[in-house]
Amino acid sequence: MKEKLKKFREIVKQKKKIDSTLALIQWDMETVVPKGGQKLISEIIGELSLKSYELSTSKELIDLLENLNKNKNSLTELERIEVEYLREENQKLKNIPSEEYQEFSELTVRAQGIWVEAREKNDFSMFKETLEKIFEYSKKFAKYRGGEEQGYNIALDDYEKGMTTEKLDDFFLNLKTELVPLLKKIQSKKIDFSIENNVSKENQKPLSKYIAEYIGFDFERGVLAESAHPFTLTVSTDDVRLTSRYFENLPFSSIFSTMHEGGHGIYEQGIGSELKDTILAEGTSTSIHESQSRFYENMIGRSKEFWIGICPEASKYYEFIKKENIDELYKSINVVTPSFIRVEADELTYSLHIMVRYEIEKGLFNGEYAVENLPEIWNEKIKEYLGIEPTNDSEGVLQDVHWSCGLIGYFPSYALGNAYSAQIYMAMKKDLNIEKLLLNGEINKITEWLHNKIHKYGKSKTSQELIKEVSGEELNIKYYIEYLKEKYSKIYQL
Ligand SMILES: [Zn+2]
Repeated sequence: MKEKLKKFREIVKQKKKIDSTLALIQWDMETVVPKGGQKLISEIIGELSLKSYELSTSKELIDLLENLNKNKNSLTELERIEVEYLREENQKLKNIPSEEYQEFSELTVRAQGIWVEAREKNDFSMFKETLEKIFEYSKKFAKYRGGEEQGYNIALDDYEKGMTTEKLDDFFLNLKTELVPLLKKIQSKKIDFSIENNVSKENQKPLSKYIAEYIGFDFERGVLAESAHPFTLTVSTDDVRLTSRYFENLPFSSIFSTMHEGGHGIYEQGIGSELKDTILAEGTSTSIHESQSRFYENMIGRSKEFWIGICPEASKYYEFIKKENIDELYKSINVVTPSFIRVEADELTYSLHIMVRYEIEKGLFNGEYAVENLPEIWNEKIKEYLGIEPTNDSEGVLQDVHWSCGLIGYFPSYALGNAYSAQIYMAMKKDLNIEKLLLNGEINKITEWLHNKIHKYGKSKTSQELIKEVSGEELNIKYYIEYLKEKYSKIYQL
């Protein structure tokens, strides 16, 4: 048994090293690689991904896992969870014929290039056939894994364990029923709180760095760089990398990107050291990850108290920020304006964007929709929920990279993350006076609370277990709706 465990640890270690190398190369690819170097780097990424896959599905590991599982009574709690988790992963892959899995991986690599071109040329027809194939594979894989009936549920379960269309239908129905009328009310007010300001990149960068550190990101174990699309990458829990982007005419865009990615980074850095060499040393699900980034970006970053607390430092770089106009600033960073692009959406309309993608994915799985009609279906839904109509495919169906990467079932995580963040926020309020802490610049106590309740557990607890322990109940969308209603009713005086 001891020998088996030793071997198991060796394989896990090897896999973690490959994954860290992959993360490093990916980081290089996204931040500094020159155009000429891209081809080789993508080939290396492809090869290493295959190595990682082969290691995870090797007969040696599968036999080990079965053996350890038979003797699970002699494993520690963490070892048991680790074995269980890897067995499940293996089970998923086992049901898919390996040639088809390989074909699908290759297809998604090609698809990204095709998608980029189609988006640049504003032409969905260039991407149509590829997208059809991606959904075909996705449906086929779901069938191999869960039989005829499960369909889209299988894809959803990959990102949020236990998630089903039944639960999400209910979730989005609530959202639609409450938020669409709220949005209409706000729009009927015809108030525009936006203020225009320019801040040089040289002044934005130090404030972003200051804020990342202020909210709890550890620069001894992390970096903040620049990239076209902000993201977070974990090489290890002691080496977490964030990026942000800077637009001189949109000085708050960099701040919210930094806080968002900072939230992801703080989560990864906060994972307990006892998990370090295990496969449990990462965020538990994409939804919980997103709950942490959204918490810092919205609940903290878009609150008045945060800006009052940070005002002396912020005004050094953003000179127009003054104590006496924090009210105006607060309203301007919470303006509600329906827009076409998800990543630029305000806090209120964001989840409606996700609802559109969810309904489309579900419709493609159950045969209600066909890929060729997506541009029209997309535009109709955006019009129905947001009251605006995209004029081309790039600001419509072609805007997000996810489908081209084969990430089907991923989008709902964003809306679930918002709902988790509100439920966590309400639970935190019972323990802490959040407003006072922010006013006094004691945000470290907020981060400490999250460390103890969420971050330190990494993947050793599921989303469901975490939310139940933190809030005493299962995920409940009512907190998110209440939070939005209360916040925007005040701002827009509804
Ligand atoms: Zn995120």
